Amino acid sequence: MATNPAEILGLPKPAWAADEVGMLYDMASRFMAEEIAPRYDEFEKNEMFDRESWLKAGAAGLLCASMPEKYGGAGGSFAHESAIIEAIGHVGVDGFGIGLHNSIVAPYILHYGSEEQKQKWLPKLATGELIGAIAMTEPGAGSDLQGVKTRAEKDGNHYKISGSKTFITNGQLANLIIVVTKTDPDKGAKGTSLIVVETDEVEGFERGRNLDKIGLKSNDTSELFFNDVRVPTSNLLGHEEGKGFVQLMQQLPQERLQIGTGAIAMIERALAITIDYVKERKAFGKAVIDFQNTQFKLAELKTEATIGRVFYNDCVARHIDGGLDPVTASMAKYWLSDLQGKVVDECLQLHGGYGYMNEYPIARMYRDARVQRIYGGTNEIMKLLIGRSL
Ligand SMILES: Cc1cc2nc3c(=O)[nH]c(=O)nc-3n(C[C@H](O)[C@H](O)[C@H](O)COP(=O)(O)OP(=O)(O)OC[C@H]3O[C@@H](n4cnc5c(N)ncnc54)[C@H](O)[C@@H]3O)c2cc1C
Repeated sequence: MATNPAEILGLPKPAWAADEVGMLYDMASRFMAEEIAPRYDEFEKNEMFDRESWLKAGAAGLLCASMPEKYGGAGGSFAHESAIIEAIGHVGVDGFGIGLHNSIVAPYILHYGSEEQKQKWLPKLATGELIGAIAMTEPGAGSDLQGVKTRAEKDGNHYKISGSKTFITNGQLANLIIVVTKTDPDKGAKGTSLIVVETDEVEGFERGRNLDKIGLKSNDTSELFFNDVRVPTSNLLGHEEGKGFVQLMQQLPQERLQIGTGAIAMIERALAITIDYVKERKAFGKAVIDFQNTQFKLAELKTEATIGRVFYNDCVARHIDGGLDPVTASMAKYWLSDLQGKVVDECLQLHGGYGYMNEYPIARMYRDARVQRIYGGTNEIMKLLIGRSL
C-alpha cells in the first residue's frame, strides 16, 4: 500500500505514543503482517484462529503487555494495548481476539484477583497457554445485565455453576472464562459475582455452536453451557461475593475505550486504502479522485477522522492518568463506532462495484465494522449513560 494508515492523518504523535510505545506498534504491525495476515483467509474460513497464533503472539510479547512484569507481562499501560490493537486494525486482521484477552480479561484478574490467583493465571495468559474470555451475555440478558440468571451456588468449598451464555468472544478457544453469575439471586445487582472457570479442569462445561456471524468471521463467538460445573470457591474474583456488578462497572470504561481503538484504526485504514484506490481507478478519462464529489467526500471523512483521532488520543491520555470517566468512555465507544460505520460505508461507495466484492478489503471492513455499534454495550445504552449524567 502506498499510504501508511498510521500516518494518513498527518497528526503529531501524542505524548503517550512516544518511543517504546511506537516501537511496540512497529513490532506488532510487523508481526500481524508477517505471521497473521498470510493465514487470515484460512482463519476466516475456519471461523476461528488457531492456538499456535496465540502462542506466537505470546512469545512476541503481544499478550498482557500492560500486566506487571512479575506476572509475566511487559509492565506497560493502556498505551501499549492501544498500540497492539491499532496494529491489528491497520494491518486488517480485526478478528484476532487478543484485545479482549489483554485489556479486558487480564485486568479483571490483576485488579480483583488474590495474589495466588494472579500468580496462577496471569503468566499463562501472557504466554497464550490460557486464552481468556468474559461471559456476561445470556440468551435472556444482554443490555440488561442485572437480568443474568446463571447461578453459582455454594457447596462446601466449591461453587456449582449452572446456566448458559451466548455471543461469547473467543468462546471456542478460551480456557479461562470469567463468568458473570448470581451468587444471591434475591439481591439483584448486589447478588452478582465474577467467578473464573478454567475449562480444562472442570466437568459439566460445554461449548455450543460457533455462531455464524455476518462479519468478524475469524473470531469465534459462541454459546457456552454450564451444567453444574464445580469450581473451587477460591475462583471467586474479589474478597467477597456480591461485588461483580461494581467490578464490571469499574472495568467497562477500558472495554469501551478499546472498542474506540479498533474503530479509529479501521477508519484510518479505510481512508488509506480508499485514497490509493481512487487515485488508480479511472472513469470518464480521469482518475476517480479528480471528481469534485470524491474530493469533497474524502475531505469530509478525513476531517471527521482527524476529530476522532484527536478525541481518542485525549481519552487515552486521560485514561492513563486515571481520569477517564465512564461517561466520556461511553462517548468514545458510541461516537467512534458510529463514525467507523459511516466512513467504511462511504469508502465502499467510492470503490464502486469492486467495493462489494469480498476480495477487496473494504468489503470485509464493511461487515466487520457493524458489530462495533452493538457489543460492549449497544450505542443506545451508551447514550442512556451519557443522558443520565446531564
Ligand atoms: C460478535 C459479538 C461478540 C460479543 N462478545 C461478547 C462477549 O465476549 N461477552 C459477552 O458477555 N457478550 C458479548 N456480546 C454480546 C453483546 O454485548 C450484546 O449483544 C449486547 O450487549 C446487546 O445485548 P442483546 O444482544 O441482548 O440486545 P438487547 O439487549 O436485546 O437489545 C436489543 C435492542 O434494544 C435496544 N435497547 C435495549 N435496552 C434499551 C434501553 N434501555 N433503551 C434503549 N434501547 C435499548 C438495544 O440497544 C438494541 O438495539 C457479543 C455480541 C456480538 C454480536
